[in-house]
Amino acid sequence: MIAVLKNNATEEDKQKVIDLIEELNFEAHPNTGVEKTIVGVIGSPDNRTFLKEKLMTMNCVEKVVVISDPYKLTSWNFKQHKTVIDLGDGVKIGGDELTVMAGPCSVESREQILETARIVKAGGAQLLRGGAFKPRTSPYSFQGLGEEGLKYMAEAREETGLKIITELMDIEHIDVIMEYTDVIQIGARNMQNYSLLKAIGKLDKPVMLKRGMSATIKEWLLAAEYVMNEGNHDVILCERGVRTFGEETRNTMDLSSIPLVQQLSHLPLIADPSHGTGRWELVTPVARAAVAVGADGIMVEVHPDPQNALSDGPQSLKPANYNLMMDELRAIHKTLGSFKAREKKIAFA
Ligand code: PEP
Ligand code: MN
Repeated sequence: MIAVLKNNATEEDKQKVIDLIEELNFEAHPNTGVEKTIVGVIGSPDNRTFLKEKLMTMNCVEKVVVISDPYKLTSWNFKQHKTVIDLGDGVKIGGDELTVMAGPCSVESREQILETARIVKAGGAQLLRGGAFKPRTSPYSFQGLGEEGLKYMAEAREETGLKIITELMDIEHIDVIMEYTDVIQIGARNMQNYSLLKAIGKLDKPVMLKRGMSATIKEWLLAAEYVMNEGNHDVILCERGVRTFGEETRNTMDLSSIPLVQQLSHLPLIADPSHGTGRWELVTPVARAAVAVGADGIMVEVHPDPQNALSDGPQSLKPANYNLMMDELRAIHKTLGSFKAREKKIAFA
């Protein structure tokens, strides 16, 4: 259920609405937009009719809408404007600019991450990606450099000004990841790790939630609800492909999920054509398509020497191909600019 406040509602009015909601043991999630304040209400349906009637008697409440679909905080019903996550220094995710997060699958050494950071920065990326704690399919594969890797990433940020995104695998690593990163990545394998989702929901740090490899859109958005329900509303979604019966690509990149999720949710949406395809020669074409169907940005693996990468070499772009891709993505994004703005309006209508 949401309570939409009248245009002239004051801060005091908003607080009264919140107090009433909480008195009746519901959770209030206020959201102050440019034109309107909406207070999302979450709780058991038992007392809902009573609360609705009470809210409707309040002078400052314009209307109360019961939302029966499963998405609440992630949905356009809760928020009229697209979520734009501001990482500072002009880096925004979900805004008018295409966001690019680029870098190696894993941080392998100081030299490798610094060299890659310089390359991706020069090509126009705003964020440096790189795993320090790696979720590898085999326990015998390279597991990441841990905190040492995070230190090298922080050094790369210092030098290039790039923001950092890195994966958090376990609750026990929250403190160390929080110390270094600008955005926490939750990997596909952890999308339904609900205790981890609840824990990051309590943090004051943007989170990028990758789609689980067998997750439906509903499960994915509900995973985002877990994070938001704990108070952290800075959630970014990332489509990284799902597993099907095809063996020729690592995953099947679900391009249709991009416009669909944009219609269901105000959250920024990033596409990952590297894990989506598993093959470097498919990465640029699929990245082009993802931008064309409305992704707010791209996460892409880039390595100075993919043949000797410690993880995901076959899907990593060489620097020259990364630069070509960036030129193409910029051109596509520019052409679609006004179309994108129109699509966002359609999504809300
Ligand atoms: C990654 O981005 O390095 C990664 C492990 O991705 P995913 O969780 O999508 O498999
Ligand atoms: Mn990878």
